[in-house]
Formats: sequence, structure tokens, C-alpha cells
Amino acid sequence: MPELRADCNECCGLCCVVPPQLEVQGFPVDKPAEVPCSHLDADQRCSIHAERRNHGFAACVGFDCFGAGQWVTQHLFDGAKWTDSAATANKMFRAYRHWLPRFEAAALIATALPYVDADTKSSLTTALAELTSTSVTRPLDTADVGQLRRDVLARIRSSLIASDRVSRPV
Ligand code: SF4
Ligand code: SF4
Repeated sequence: MPELRADCNECCGLCCVVPPQLEVQGFPVDKPAEVPCSHLDADQRCSIHAERRNHGFAACVGFDCFGAGQWVTQHLFDGAKWTDSAATANKMFRAYRHWLPRFEAAALIATALPYVDADTKSSLTTALAELTSTSVTRPLDTADVGQLRRDVLARIRSSLIASDRVSRPV
């Protein structure tokens, strides 16, 4: 199972390029998707990392890709960088969009695992393995991502209820 924790030293700044940045999200200026943030340096590192909040990039401080970035960079692209070529960038950006919601869901499950009983742990472990399997290649659209999150949360909640970790709704 991949590490469900961001390791930015093993990535090429994918989260600083792939998503848009919008003023309505709190960013200082709008940035289109698939355009590098103005603070990403030539080595794909954040040039204002320690001062992001002061520069209006507080949203970056709270972000975690749960390991999707280095998974794409190292596991799927063997250490390539999106700057290598336009074709590589296109493939890496698509891969990052594909894997990010899966890793977010997998991290939710991994967090819940210590709190559920053995039976539910088994089913959730299977779900976790499916989420991080390279045999699942279909891209997720916006509706799919929403459904995936709802499914994962429902499975975690029902597991916790089954093991009496949370109260049943009345
Ligand atoms: S995508 Fe993840 S690993 Fe890569 S730079 Fe962003 S937070 Fe770090
Ligand atoms: S401010 Fe730094 S961490 Fe945030 S998107 Fe820009 S380069 Fe990345």
C-alpha cells in the first residue's frame, strides 16, 4: 500500500500546477488550471514555503495530497517531471487528477481502520486496496468524485456504528 502522506521531496509540485487558484478561495490572484503558481521555482519547489500565509497562500498550508503527488511522480512516471515535455505534462496532470480523490478517500479509510472491528476492518482494507490499485484506470469526473466521497464516508460511518464507536442517528 502506498504511503498516504505527502512527500513533496519526491514530487514535482503537481498541486502547484494542476488545480486553478481562485480569488474566491482566498488566493491573491486567479491562476488557471495547469499553469504553474508564480511562486513555484525552477526546481518545482515553493519559493515562499515558510511565508505562504503572509503572501496570501494560506490554502496551501492546509493542503495535503495524501501521497498522490509522489505516487504519480515516482511510482507511475519513474521520477519524471511535468517540465520534461508537453506530452509528459499532459499525462502527469491527468494522472494526478485521477489519483488525488482516490488517495483522499484511502486516507479517510486508513484513519478509520484502528477504530473498527475485525470484520469491518477486512472490508475496509479491501476498499482501500481497490482505491490505490493501478488496475483501476477510469478517470473520475466531478460527479464520480462526489459519489466516491459519499460512499467512503458511508462505509466508515456504518463500520463505526457497527462497532459502537459512534451513536446511531435517531
Ligand atoms: S502534490 Fe502532494 S507531494 Fe506533490 S508537492 Fe503537492 S502536496 Fe507535495
Ligand atoms: S504558494 Fe507555494 S505551495 Fe502554494 S501553490 Fe504556490 S508554489 Fe505551491
